[in-house]
Amino acid sequence: MLDEAYGQIPPESLKKERFEMPRLQTMVQGNKTIIVNFSKIIKDLQREEKHALKYFTSQAASAANIEGGRMILKGVFSQQELQGFLEDYIRRFVLCRECSRPDTKITEQKGVKILKCSACGAFTAIKE
Ligand SMILES: [Zn+2]
Repeated sequence: MLDEAYGQIPPESLKKERFEMPRLQTMVQGNKTIIVNFSKIIKDLQREEKHALKYFTSQAASAANIEGGRMILKGVFSQQELQGFLEDYIRRFVLCRECSRPDTKITEQKGVKILKCSACGAFTAIKE
């Protein structure tokens, strides 16, 4: 019983008081921009790669794919620009509106996407 309850507490919430924005590592190769640590960051955020990829491509108005954990985006973008997309993504789809923690899950209710926080229990509708 105890083990089970303990297992449900995300380890991040035990040691971290404030969420730190992860930093994208990017590099430009010809007319493409590569986000080297894309999959790792999205995995750490416990979001789906596909969902984040869709957000990035619509923000960048470009096409991208994921290869070996890296996002390969058509066009040349600066680190700052892509970092901005990531931070917007995190604010919209990861951080709890109430307590600003990242311990959230996206669920769906009657076709509406809901961001549910496992730290404080708050839930808010997400606008795509
Ligand atoms: Zn919360």
